[in-house]
Amino acid sequence: MDNNFDVIVIGSGPGGYVCAIRSSQLGLKTACIESQKTLGGTCLNVGCIPSKSLLNSSEIYHKAQKDFKNLGIETNTIKLNLNKMMSNKNKSILTLTKGIEFLFKKNKITHIKGKGTISGKNTVMVTDDTGKKVSYNSKNIVISTGSIPTSLSGVKIDEKTIVSSTTALSFDKIPKDLVVVGGGYIGLELSSVWKRLGSNVTVIEYLDHIIPGMDKDVSNEFLKILTKQGINFKLNSKVISIDVSKDIAVVNFTNKSSTNKEKIKCDKVLIAVGRKPNIGEEINKMGIKINDQGKIQVNDKFETSIKNVYAIGDVIDKGPMLAHKAEDEGIAVAEIIVGQAGHVNYGVIPSVIYTSPEVASVGKTEEQLKKENIKYKVGKFPFIANSRAKVNSETEGFVKIIAEEKSDKVLGASIISSVAGTMIAEIALAMEFGASSEDIARTCHSHPTHSEAVKEAAMAVDKRPIHF
Ligand code: NAD
Repeated sequence: MDNNFDVIVIGSGPGGYVCAIRSSQLGLKTACIESQKTLGGTCLNVGCIPSKSLLNSSEIYHKAQKDFKNLGIETNTIKLNLNKMMSNKNKSILTLTKGIEFLFKKNKITHIKGKGTISGKNTVMVTDDTGKKVSYNSKNIVISTGSIPTSLSGVKIDEKTIVSSTTALSFDKIPKDLVVVGGGYIGLELSSVWKRLGSNVTVIEYLDHIIPGMDKDVSNEFLKILTKQGINFKLNSKVISIDVSKDIAVVNFTNKSSTNKEKIKCDKVLIAVGRKPNIGEEINKMGIKINDQGKIQVNDKFETSIKNVYAIGDVIDKGPMLAHKAEDEGIAVAEIIVGQAGHVNYGVIPSVIYTSPEVASVGKTEEQLKKENIKYKVGKFPFIANSRAKVNSETEGFVKIIAEEKSDKVLGASIISSVAGTMIAEIALAMEFGASSEDIARTCHSHPTHSEAVKEAAMAVDKRPIHF
């Protein structure tokens, strides 16, 4: 094999594999190095995809138990087969990771199996499973090595009793009592899965609200919805220690305002307090500049401190740790390498929590606008007044649109709805085109759809919703 490339991408997650495909489309001779057995990184193997499979299956199971009767669907006793649910999840992972293999072949991308080490300015050394080392040369190197879970100081994730999301996506039996440390994306999605499947779930969150960074209005409503679903919350609480003995854990924590000491006994503890960039010594042998949060510093062109070495995705000091952000950066960096104007608009990156209902947001929150002294107006429309949501018994939540007071330009939006993750794309697109709320309000939306609530919220910015 010829070991010389135009681009070598290290890591095949959503940032890396998309970067490899775009590079190849642009005529660059491309290779992608992956140390794991399958392509797709955290997202496809132990993140977005398996969690969405379990969220979908557990929601159907829950609905079958609670809602089918009301819809006139009668079944015999509904039984859970956790093994089969997990096999179905594994099948989805396999299909999608094979899909990337297919795309690599189609785009003539060389898939190099092993661990990549940047051993020189234009050289990557790859060590395979057997310890064999091969050196490759490349005009450009793109680091896309993703992130790994963090823990609390003094708490060791043993992946038996104290687990990360990877193990919590593959429990072989339903925990009776599950404590989740961290009320963010991972904590709340996996709390939903295991609560629906029968666990008694308690979330311990350090702050006085869930999902930091999200509009407070949305966070408060979401907390009410999850509490109604039976998930217990201990907010404003700090975990002090976790003792494990004979597969039973005792989580010791204090309430920050009262300093009352509390403890919860459980059979599993999920630590979901964030992720950190995955930058091993092999990546940083060359002394690439890292910021004080351990993230690779890049400029607007995704260039690191070393010439022709770029970085994208969860490892860099820009934007949220989200798969779709990494994908857009993968496309942008490939275009930049060939001299085009690749660009990512960090002001319009939607984020979605795939619970039931889903919670989605894009752009600025009210809290951010207040801090920035920007005057704004708000339009809100509840799903209780949306005909399709009513017919489907999905009346929880609302659409909230925030527009600049004078120009009416849309600055941000949040949606709580069964299909919020899909709906938020419309508002992201509107924001990319610099739309006003009036533009959305005057766009014809199909009836009956959940999307009509977006139009109504836009009309509500000007205090003229029709159905509420
Ligand atoms: P997160 O940053 O979303 O949430 C971590 C939570 O833990 C925060 O609420 C934080 O206040 C809390 N916390 C931190 N230290 C704590 C402590 N000592 N005690 C109690 N609570 C504490 O992180 P995550 O949920 O672990 O997710 C990691 C990354 O993965 C995020 O960047 C997220 O964007 C991404 N992710 C996204 C999705 C999605 O898009 N649906 C799903 C899963 C993960």
